[in-house]
Amino acid sequence: MSRRAELYTLIRSAKAHLELAQVGPIPGVRPASQEERDVFDEVLAARRVRKTQAMREALDFERPKAAEPKPTAVAPRPSGSKSVPLWEQFGSKPKEIFASATAELEELWAPEDDHATRLLKIRENLGDCKRCGLCETRKKIVFGEGSPTARLMFVGEGPGYNEDIQGRPFVGKAGELLDKMIEAMGLKREDVYIANTVKCRPPEDRNPAPDEIAKCRPFIMQQVRAIEPEVIVGLGRFGTNVLLDQDKSITQIRGTWQDFDGIALMPTFHPAYLLRNPGAKRDAWADLQAVMKKLGLSN
Ligand code: SF4
Repeated sequence: MSRRAELYTLIRSAKAHLELAQVGPIPGVRPASQEERDVFDEVLAARRVRKTQAMREALDFERPKAAEPKPTAVAPRPSGSKSVPLWEQFGSKPKEIFASATAELEELWAPEDDHATRLLKIRENLGDCKRCGLCETRKKIVFGEGSPTARLMFVGEGPGYNEDIQGRPFVGKAGELLDKMIEAMGLKREDVYIANTVKCRPPEDRNPAPDEIAKCRPFIMQQVRAIEPEVIVGLGRFGTNVLLDQDKSITQIRGTWQDFDGIALMPTFHPAYLLRNPGAKRDAWADLQAVMKKLGLSN
């Protein structure tokens, strides 16, 4: 049979199939003859066999199974690898650091010190800090700001360009968005406390290095201890993981309550991420609604 005749037969078979598949005749389509139905069924059956075979081969049903590889010892992870938990890179778990970071507060604070005095003393102790290399490129230390008696504390990663110039956390575009998020919760910026895990801007806005975080982390721990908020919102991977003994992606843990030494911690997306990915704002808002519920704020 020529290719043209073969094609013609297929078209007729297809029409016949359409007619067979329908209840009643199709307008404009001649009912299929028995001969046409037989040809179509043969073509269809052959195609099914070929397809099934191809799928079986692709799924390895027909091949002998390879022997299961024996489990091998887990190779040590290279230092600095992203998969290494942050606390491993620093050498001790955050709660241990929390204990040591806050131990010096015994000497720093007097029992009668209120929250504001405690914060002032931490700032004095920080001084013109040169504890890590970030001091060489920073313009201003960004200690943190807000209410010393805040029930809600936001912890971000580190200062960016605008923060470095002004010496204030979360100004610029990401700061504007954070302000809107706070206002959407029925609060004002002055009602909460905002700080970062490192107080100086990393050059080119790179991620802070483990040694820089390790040097600076005692101060965010002390700020938490000074303020004693009811809830912390961890903004982004660093704002969350630096406080917790885990190194999970923010996508994985956002929206799930965590515990930081007895304080409820809600991880959510960093406002800078939300500016790049507006579709994630819905999730961030759901996280903040959970925080509002926890604090008894009306929705
Ligand atoms: S980042 Fe922290 S530890 Fe490093 S110089 Fe700045 S204030 Fe000091």
